Amino acid sequence: MAERRKKEFFRGADFPRLFPELADAEVEFVQRGAGVAEDGKRGSLSFRERTLEGHLPCANPSCRKGGFGIGAVIEAIAAARRPDGEGEVACAGYVGALRPAESGAPAATCSNRLAVKVKLRYKPAGP
Ligand SMILES: [Zn+2]
Repeated sequence: MAERRKKEFFRGADFPRLFPELADAEVEFVQRGAGVAEDGKRGSLSFRERTLEGHLPCANPSCRKGGFGIGAVIEAIAAARRPDGEGEVACAGYVGALRPAESGAPAATCSNRLAVKVKLRYKPAGP
């Protein structure tokens, strides 16, 4: 029962509830792997600009149930009260047949990865 729940989230609207200590989060990401240009697919997200998402889609066209949860990266940086940090997230999806009998090829984990750089702004400490 003492196990700590990971702060994964999907919608930016969930961010303030999960991270009440944060005033803002800016995220820059680069996705590398199948379905993206050789130098990666870049983007940025910001809570303030209402573009923050906690879960980013995987670009690999053969990937199923994939995606990247960035909540854990933000959580690790916020737990250390650091102003910025970075991390890498592996895609949660798989490629290949769900049941090996369908095609003979067993399902394998998707190898796409997301490199994340995060900048955090903290709310002023209480009295
Ligand atoms: Zn994937």
